[in-house]
Amino acid sequence: MATANIAEIFSSIQGEGLRVGERHLFIRFCGCNLDCRYCDTRAARSVPTDCRIEKSSGSGAFVFRRNPLDVPQLMSVLADLLHRKELHDAVALTGGEPLLHAVFLRELLPQLRPLTRRVYLETNGTLPEELASIIEYVDTIAMDIKLPSCSGQPPQYETNRKFLNIAVAREVFVKLVICAATTEKELAEAARVVADVNSEVPLVLQPVTPVGDVAAPRPVQILRLHAVAKKILPNVRVIPQTHKITGQL
Ligand code: SF4
Repeated sequence: MATANIAEIFSSIQGEGLRVGERHLFIRFCGCNLDCRYCDTRAARSVPTDCRIEKSSGSGAFVFRRNPLDVPQLMSVLADLLHRKELHDAVALTGGEPLLHAVFLRELLPQLRPLTRRVYLETNGTLPEELASIIEYVDTIAMDIKLPSCSGQPPQYETNRKFLNIAVAREVFVKLVICAATTEKELAEAARVVADVNSEVPLVLQPVTPVGDVAAPRPVQILRLHAVAKKILPNVRVIPQTHKITGQL
């Protein structure tokens, strides 16, 4: 039976991307194949002994279960947290990188789907084969393309293109985190990856929440980067992380 290491399960407001403001139940998987300089979920990249689970949705009180969890254990937790069907708009699979757990997700998602209106996948867009193995159970894909200037990661545009080619079978948008170091050239390169696949895919520019030596882009720079993207794609929005503003988890 497949198992997965999970950092936390909690109810909150989606603070990023095109479904910002919706109530989501988040499952934060452990581990990531990247190491971004601005990562705000570093704790999830190692494996905690216990998964912390919100006792009831929105209570802010937690219980702890020993990692790893198997599918029946997780389903019993989710059935409790999702019992008020009207409350959550989606279950958000996040991390870390949830697609590192594709084998587990293939077992979990067919059972989870009847409990939720939407399965929402947050991913760094670098594991196309894993996406292909579970896409039939996913409704929305929030796909990052990492810009080297901010993330400190080498570009993976070919892999990103391959990933997006699979993701367009579902509702999908691409998110680029931008910072003070982002250049117009690299932004155009990333926007072209999207346009090469399907120019109707929405692009979200997300000004970084400053961390360490990664500084926020200047207001005028945001407008310039937006203008560069708009030359390549028709649907470009600037959306910061709103959960940081409102103090949500
Ligand atoms: S892909 Fe996401 S979880 Fe992984 S290191 Fe980058 S920001 Fe952190």
